[in-house]
Amino acid sequence: MFVDKATITLVAGKGGNGAIAFHREKYIAAGGPDGGDGGRGGDVIFVADDNMSTLMDFRYKRKYVAANGVDGQGHLKTGKDGEDLIIRVPRGTIVRDKETGAIIQDISGNEPYVIAKGGKGGWGNKHFATPTRQVPRFAKPGMPGQKREVILELKLLADVGLAGFPNVGKSTLLSVVSKAHPKIANYHFTTLYPNLGVVYAMEGVSFVMADIPGIIEGASEGAGLGHDFLRHIERCRLIIHVVDVSGSEGRDPIADFDAINEELVRYNETLASRPQIVAANKCDIVEDPEMMERFRAYVTGKGYELFEISAATHQGVRELVMAAAEKLSQLPPMQFFEPDYVEPEPVLGGNAEDLTIEIDEGVYRVEGQWLDRLLDSVNFGDNESMMYFDRTLRNSGLFDRLEAMGINEGDIVALYELEFEYKK
Ligand code: GDP
Ligand code: MG
Repeated sequence: MFVDKATITLVAGKGGNGAIAFHREKYIAAGGPDGGDGGRGGDVIFVADDNMSTLMDFRYKRKYVAANGVDGQGHLKTGKDGEDLIIRVPRGTIVRDKETGAIIQDISGNEPYVIAKGGKGGWGNKHFATPTRQVPRFAKPGMPGQKREVILELKLLADVGLAGFPNVGKSTLLSVVSKAHPKIANYHFTTLYPNLGVVYAMEGVSFVMADIPGIIEGASEGAGLGHDFLRHIERCRLIIHVVDVSGSEGRDPIADFDAINEELVRYNETLASRPQIVAANKCDIVEDPEMMERFRAYVTGKGYELFEISAATHQGVRELVMAAAEKLSQLPPMQFFEPDYVEPEPVLGGNAEDLTIEIDEGVYRVEGQWLDRLLDSVNFGDNESMMYFDRTLRNSGLFDRLEAMGINEGDIVALYELEFEYKK
């Protein structure tokens, strides 16, 4: 089955914890702190892969987790960074935030994209030694990695999309102009996934053509297989509208032509406004030449270029390819989707209940994840930043907790490396 949408969870690696350790050596009585830092957690990274054309893999595996950083050790040994997790997706995959639906990134270029950042490793106790605190008995824990739920949506990157009713010869045409091997059969809906092929028009001129399955009447309302597949031609620069003019299936080419165009408009106005070349196919078995002429008059009357072809005998196919190449050379480049996702402001504060407070030789030592993050973000040289810091601590209820523990004016409070005298 063809899958072009998937919801997955991505979890970047947690940073390793900083170590609490003290230098010990024979005959040396009391060495200094030598706890090393934790390693960084691995990132989760998307990379475009031209050899993939569906999101099938993501139906079976929905959670992707990068490696954690390793904890630091004594002897100032830094923990190893967690390995990044690289996820290959078909080129043209749009990554959306699950909650808002906003576009985070369009994976169409060659740049790897970091979708979830690994957590920072924590500092070992070595960092916290000061002239007055020679025995720091704390280190920082590693930060958790970013966790994200995203929707992957495949919008193939093809210059030319083949539109038309089932069975009109789209797959056949693609197979004769490119090296693609789509399934060809004389029944409707043979194409259950889009096929891509590179068409070489002439030396140095090539383009990508996609056989888009299943546009039928009512597709934009969800009938048949059609609707979902329409999204794949959204980005095409040019549509080749294939119409069966043979009359062999009792079809009326004019009615077919209008029906498909209406379907396009209903689905997406922009798509419908793409330039279109009409390929009147199966000319080798035309039963009623007059019908062909009526069709030609109708289509050209509306300003479209029309090519009489036979995908089966290759008649007229070369001319069609050349015309498409010529047209493409005049058209603007492929549409990329601009990200519109706005990263929410990180919540820096927290609740004092989530902090641990220990009284260590008369010093009130406070630790906790949100506090760690808050400290990282404060600019101690900036008054406004300091005020914000102060307010956040106050709102968390930290000072009330300290009071309840019996803190006195002048006692030392230690928030990791930050130490200050308590004032009421
Ligand atoms: P699609 O559903 O539009 O992809 O149509 P296919 O390419 O699968 O073709 C449907 C049927 O029409 C197959 O049996 C093809 O062999 C046949 N066919 C396609 N193009 C031509 C043509 O130019 N002439 C004739 N006689 N048959 C064709
Ligand atoms: Mg087909």
